[in-house]
Amino acid sequence: MTKFSDLELDPRVLQAVVESGYETPTPIQAQAIPPALRGQDVLGIAQTGTGKTAGFTLPMITLLGQGRARARMPRSLVLAPTRELAAQVAESFDKYAKYTKLTKALLIGGVSFGDQDKLIDRGVDVLIATPGRLLDHFERGKLLLTGVQIMVVDEADRMLDMGFIPDIERIFQMTPKTRQTLFFSATMAPEIERITNTFLNNPAKVEVARQATTNTSIEQKLFAFTPTRKDRSFTEKRAVLRALIRAEGESLTNAIVFCNRKMDVDVVAKSLKSHGFHAAPIHGDLDQSVRTKTLDEFRDGSLRLLIASDVAARGLDIPAVSHVFNFDVPSHPEDYVHRIGRTGRAGRLGKAFSIAVPSDDKYLGAIESLVKQPIPRADLPEGALEGASENSDRARSSRSASSSTSGRGGSRGPRGRDAAPRSESMPHDAIPVIEQFETEEPAPLVPARAQPERAQPERAQPERADRAPQERGERDRRDDRRRDGNRGSAERGEQPAQRSEHRSEPRAEPRADQRSEQPRSEQRNYRSSYPGQHDRIVGMGDHVPDFILRSFRLREVTPDDEDGEATTAA
Ligand code: AMP
Repeated sequence: MTKFSDLELDPRVLQAVVESGYETPTPIQAQAIPPALRGQDVLGIAQTGTGKTAGFTLPMITLLGQGRARARMPRSLVLAPTRELAAQVAESFDKYAKYTKLTKALLIGGVSFGDQDKLIDRGVDVLIATPGRLLDHFERGKLLLTGVQIMVVDEADRMLDMGFIPDIERIFQMTPKTRQTLFFSATMAPEIERITNTFLNNPAKVEVARQATTNTSIEQKLFAFTPTRKDRSFTEKRAVLRALIRAEGESLTNAIVFCNRKMDVDVVAKSLKSHGFHAAPIHGDLDQSVRTKTLDEFRDGSLRLLIASDVAARGLDIPAVSHVFNFDVPSHPEDYVHRIGRTGRAGRLGKAFSIAVPSDDKYLGAIESLVKQPIPRADLPEGALEGASENSDRARSSRSASSSTSGRGGSRGPRGRDAAPRSESMPHDAIPVIEQFETEEPAPLVPARAQPERAQPERAQPERADRAPQERGERDRRDDRRRDGNRGSAERGEQPAQRSEHRSEPRAEPRADQRSEQPRSEQRNYRSSYPGQHDRIVGMGDHVPDFILRSFRLREVTPDDEDGEATTAA
């Protein structure tokens, strides 16, 4: 078996590795480090948890050991798709380069340009960045990439999902052709293959097996149920989640709860808090300082439940997570693998529980065929749904009690969805949850064709007031918008401009149809598969005027487009 001492690493790097407690290189390290040290390009097909970060940082530090950085001309560059991943890479550098004099700068959004400029001006050996922030610095004339000798692209498949590939291509073109490239991706989508064919020179291909989802250290269970009514699905899933958490008792030391959409991340976190759980959300729309604080608390054990979107939690290295909950079944089967891989790490046992409703069936089918095994079904804990009706009753009685109170929401329609009054028996956190989701108003009938496929509506986020506009570069803002909300096109082989995601205008509150994970067409199937539950005729009944059936077209966007996302236009 290969040992670290066989790998011809700089002795100072080797010492830092030994002090980290690592004895033998992981397979990706054993395969990637030798060609990287020879100066060869490397194409690594590996996902997080395989040790790939050290797979590129150790040879980089060794290779950069000689030579000095020049002002504004970094000698190496690491691109990561999210701020958290970039920060994790930076931590690795600190750990493994502690006996060298190498300098580094971390360029991520949410941090002032001034401090980053100062570091770059002094000259850095290693620049670790998210693509948007890097280009912002470049466009401000503060950075030259012509001195880059080694360039690393980490999590390229996630870059593709987030629409960063044009930025990556641009960055490649700004670096010298003679550079060495170390490129890592969990999957080889056609677009990724194209990039590697264009920018990598005769790479050593190293591949490690996908993290086994059959991993016996992860106990998987599926809790499937049929909501009493479709519009109660979200409420009842929250009740099931609470029941599952309670049923696990003290064996649940900490957990990540995954939701498919960031808006739901917020609501689930608020709902759990209002029921006395120690929970906090993490997703791309939260301010960086909040995200960092939340993650730190989760890592140090002071936060028990982290409610997360896929992108925010992807790749985070938190070794001891006892449970993962899929509040939503992921619509991309790969995400199931990534999500449950957050638990059962480093030889520990973990549990991965998924909550499913009938409309998730086809996603479950795709997951089970990917992982090549069924997810064991389990019964809901006793009385799991009682919580949902209590909550609802409490909300209803609060509403009727508040009919003479001017609630925050005011009057919102015939059924009077006023905000509940604040009272000691109802924590303040509970109010928005009830306001938003205890609705009985039927969703308006919209023809299936008018909905973009797999649209993931989200509320446009107002520009944050806590950062001056000049402190936030345009691409930095675009990074923010891309994060979390821009998923899925990679697997469909689409170009960024063809994507069907759209931004909806800000609304006072999300409507029932916006909250659904399903396209309209599937919601209709749902109605027909569960007859009797949705027999009210709403909207225009069977008659749909022609103009509503006209198809939508996508407006072309350029990378410089203010919104940076395709927008639907009638
Ligand atoms: P990564 O895939 O780079 O996110 O690494 C996943 C985890 O594996 C991190 O906690 C690393 O610190 C750890 N790790 C990296 N290399 C080794 C090694 N050779 N032996 C044991 N653990 C390692």
